[in-house]
Amino acid sequence: VPRLRFAPSPTGYLHVGGARTALFNWLYARKHGGQFLLRVEDTDRARSTDASTRAIFEGLEWLGLDWDEPPVYQGANLERHRADAQRLLDANAAYRCFCTPAELDEQRAAAEARGDAFRYDRRCDRLPADEVQRRVAAGMPFVVRFRMPDGETSWVDLVHGRIAFPNKDIGEGDFIVLRSDATPIYNMAVVSDDIAMDITLVMRGDDHISNTPKQILLYEALGAALPQFAHLPMIHGTDGKKLSKRHGATAVGDYQHLGILPEAMNNFLALLGWSPGGDREVMTRDEMVALFSEDGLSKKAAVFDPQKLEWMNGQHLMRMPLDELGPRVGAAMEAAGVATAASLAARPEWYAKLLELLRVRSRTIDELVKQSVPYLRDTLDYDADAVAKLWMKDPATADAALAGVRAALEALPAWEPAAMEQALRQEAERQGVGAGKLFQPLRLALTGVTATPGMFDVLDLLGRERSLARIDVARA
Ligand code: GLU
Repeated sequence: VPRLRFAPSPTGYLHVGGARTALFNWLYARKHGGQFLLRVEDTDRARSTDASTRAIFEGLEWLGLDWDEPPVYQGANLERHRADAQRLLDANAAYRCFCTPAELDEQRAAAEARGDAFRYDRRCDRLPADEVQRRVAAGMPFVVRFRMPDGETSWVDLVHGRIAFPNKDIGEGDFIVLRSDATPIYNMAVVSDDIAMDITLVMRGDDHISNTPKQILLYEALGAALPQFAHLPMIHGTDGKKLSKRHGATAVGDYQHLGILPEAMNNFLALLGWSPGGDREVMTRDEMVALFSEDGLSKKAAVFDPQKLEWMNGQHLMRMPLDELGPRVGAAMEAAGVATAASLAARPEWYAKLLELLRVRSRTIDELVKQSVPYLRDTLDYDADAVAKLWMKDPATADAALAGVRAALEALPAWEPAAMEQALRQEAERQGVGAGKLFQPLRLALTGVTATPGMFDVLDLLGRERSLARIDVARA
């Protein structure tokens, strides 16, 4: 079965690029009945923090990207990394290098003077075995270098097709796998861990393409089966530059707090480098799993457009089953102090009506909560501009209009939309004004704002008593 992993370095929050990579690994694993694993690459002791590890886990949990085995911590595998470096020495695929930093600087300067790119000149590979033994016994510090073979290294990338590097162009020649303090270099740790975790497909950002030939050479020297590789495109802002804080929020958690639904976030992230084909865009997670295919992966840089994310969120808000949406909006209302979950649960039909009316007019849960305030709180915040325009320009006329509306509504035998509509249209005629002229001041009286669902839906949501009371408050 396919085994994939997401391997974040815990040096910050979960950013959208990391989340996209995690999602693609997860989608592939779920699509093919494989496993999705986590590896925390915490070997950079100075920059790695537990808080960051927690933030990354929380981000993944929010997105619902569940992992199938306990997370692996790279820092705990140091002994194996060393043992694998030793295996390279034993197989004569690597050698000890005793060159001091000063000697290497000299080599580097000499290369520069010749106008060449620096490549290690392999002088330590020419040391006789007994000299190596003598230096090791004497406690001289050394690094372990991988001996770069001739030829070229290539693979068939799931995204890019065949990629080949002439070995003479890879890095600075015989690259270091173990530092003089016996800690592994990045590529050594990754390969050792990917082998130990039985990873069959390495899917990651294409900023790692230059690491891949080194990693392939290490697999081969260790006699391990090669995984497949898929390098996902970089993510750019709408200005075509690499995504950064300049483009706005780049942390997944920020979007969570802005009221973006995880469903919408996943859907949006899935389209950063993948397409199901055709012009299909809005998908549930199950639909994405069903449609996911490596054929739809793109190598073109993807564009992160926050407006599209908002649009996508609106689409998911509109389509989500009410029994899923209700509790989430309820929690947001409770957090905002607008309503308690219990008070909403006490009138489920009314709450469902409220959600239906507001969700088609909201792009985020926050917007929905904000719009719900007039229906949930007893006192209104009046929009000052609207008050000035609709009531205060001509207070007498406005008051007469509201008085007439109130009387017409109060006389209704039943509080139902068709009857309200008829009564209000008759009242407009009686006052000799267009219906709009009546509705705007009335809408303001009922809700404090001018942008709301339809007039009769508003009256219906508020009910007779509260509607009439609000008109009285407005007139007072
Ligand atoms: N820790 C690496 C990163 O965050 C992971 C690279 C890989 O997936 O091999 O970029």
